[in-house]
Amino acid sequence: MPDLLDRILQWVFPTDCTACGRPAAERRLPFFCRGCWETIRPIEGPVCPRCGRPFDSPLALLSSPGHLCGPCRKKPPTFDLALTPYRYEGILEQAIHLFKYRRRDALATPLTDLMLAWADKLPSISLVMPVPLHPSRLRSREFNQALLLADRIADRLGLPLSFEHLVRVRATRPQTELDRKERARNVRRAFAVREPAGLAGQRVLLVDDVLTTGATVNECARVLRRTGVESVTVLTLARRV
Ligand SMILES: [Zn+2]
Ligand SMILES: [Zn+2]
Repeated sequence: MPDLLDRILQWVFPTDCTACGRPAAERRLPFFCRGCWETIRPIEGPVCPRCGRPFDSPLALLSSPGHLCGPCRKKPPTFDLALTPYRYEGILEQAIHLFKYRRRDALATPLTDLMLAWADKLPSISLVMPVPLHPSRLRSREFNQALLLADRIADRLGLPLSFEHLVRVRATRPQTELDRKERARNVRRAFAVREPAGLAGQRVLLVDDVLTTGATVNECARVLRRTGVESVTVLTLARRV
């Protein structure tokens, strides 16, 4: 039940759900009604314990719980673990689009809530950092949505946030335009670490909005590893399966 303040808000500032047009005004959930938002469901069934890729067949993990997916067995990722709780589809896809390209910053809180529903699956973390944007992209898009998410997550977990260690040193083409092979090539040498001394022994949580092939976070983890970080865990809001 919406509380009194939510009802007053709806009366003073009536807003309609972006998806279905029904009234929507909760302080913690702007732009969508509760009914639409609750259609966002976590990925069900077995997933690769390393990269989070859903398996086609539930049998894959029954026989051996540590079973890795094909790409992870062929070329193990440089990160230790990736948690990618939701599919990039439906209401979540609409919400990420609003958040990312139309600067609906108020969505940062409900989107962070979705990510933190998985906080108990995280290993021990000592430092949170976002996947950085290149300054040229920052100028055109004006803000880094991964930083906004990472900032909220660090705050809620009571952990320090670093947005100055990992930097993007080369502008890259948007990964969405490229196939798997091209993506890996596109992000190669795109990231660097500034002042690596502070990173030795850190257990890093790397935050991004959407994971596609994992090429970007893999490259970030590779450069972080060279500084002596102890572990790199990836948390993204959604994955393009
Ligand atoms: Zn709705
Ligand atoms: Zn995998």
